Amino acid sequence: MPNERSDPRRRQPGPAYPGPSQPGPSQPGPSQPGVSQPGPAQPGPSQPGPSQPGTAQPGPAQPVPPEQPPPLPPNDPEVERARALLLPVPDSGVGEVAPGKPDPIRPNARTLTASDERGVRCWNCSVENRTDRVFCRNCGVELDRAPQPAAPTGPSWWQRLKDRLSDLNFFAVGAGLLALLLVVAAILLAKPLFYRYQDLTSTPVAIPPTAVDSSNNDPAHPPASAFDGASNTWWGPGFSGDSRGQFLRAIINPTDLRAVRITPGVSQDPQRRDEQARPHTVTLLVFDQQGRRTTKQVTLQDYEPKTVRIRVDDAVQVLVVLGDGFGTSEGKQVAIAEVELYRY
Ligand SMILES: [Zn+2]
Repeated sequence: MPNERSDPRRRQPGPAYPGPSQPGPSQPGPSQPGVSQPGPAQPGPSQPGPSQPGTAQPGPAQPVPPEQPPPLPPNDPEVERARALLLPVPDSGVGEVAPGKPDPIRPNARTLTASDERGVRCWNCSVENRTDRVFCRNCGVELDRAPQPAAPTGPSWWQRLKDRLSDLNFFAVGAGLLALLLVVAAILLAKPLFYRYQDLTSTPVAIPPTAVDSSNNDPAHPPASAFDGASNTWWGPGFSGDSRGQFLRAIINPTDLRAVRITPGVSQDPQRRDEQARPHTVTLLVFDQQGRRTTKQVTLQDYEPKTVRIRVDDAVQVLVVLGDGFGTSEGKQVAIAEVELYRY
């Protein structure tokens, strides 16, 4: 029973304590009796034995409350034993008080007063200092000891690339790429689509040549016969065989050429169309006003007129150069009944 009260800490501030928790019955007599407990609770007598340090201490320790650290005579084994039972409590003499938080040690901050110094700007805090100062008057760094800018041994290019990539909003990038793709596609497709539209919707207009000639001709079949609008008169190069390289030429005023129509053979009349050979492949050469040349290879079906789309702005000269032919043989020459030039 006495054990439950053996905590010395509870004992010390005695006055506040004794009443209710004191198991009255077990404690006969002395400390319990009164309603008021002035001094009596303080002096140990109610508490028997060893747990009461007060008793072991010779008088002086008891009355002087807190500021009495060491004057215990440690020799007495009883005292030693009692002390061993004690919880090590700082000798504050104050019980039942939560330890307060110590005030942190605050730096002794100074406010900068002299703000009118000029000269050296601190590399650390940007405060200006007189030129004769060695240390910054504000932050104390050594003024001429600015750290060297870090050498460009930063993150590797790979790291930087990764960082940059990870910063990107991939949705935005995707949208941007798509937009770019559309723009590029529009640019690439715009002209062909426009040309196609123009080809489909425009009415070709014949371009009358201002002059025609050829590399050579059958005297009976001059180049003019290929430009006379009649498909039963024809130009012949004057040589038998395929006459490769022989050409027919038309000179025109600068015109936006859009098509060339070629009618092969001597006539469209089935009775006569085999009288001479017919061109199979020809090369169209068109020169514009600046002398630029546009070339187009053309393959013809035998006997079939063919319209060739070829766009040359400001065209001034059109050549039809013979390649190989249909029905070429000794005594036959490659005949072209008509060459027509068109603009829109
Ligand atoms: Zn500074």
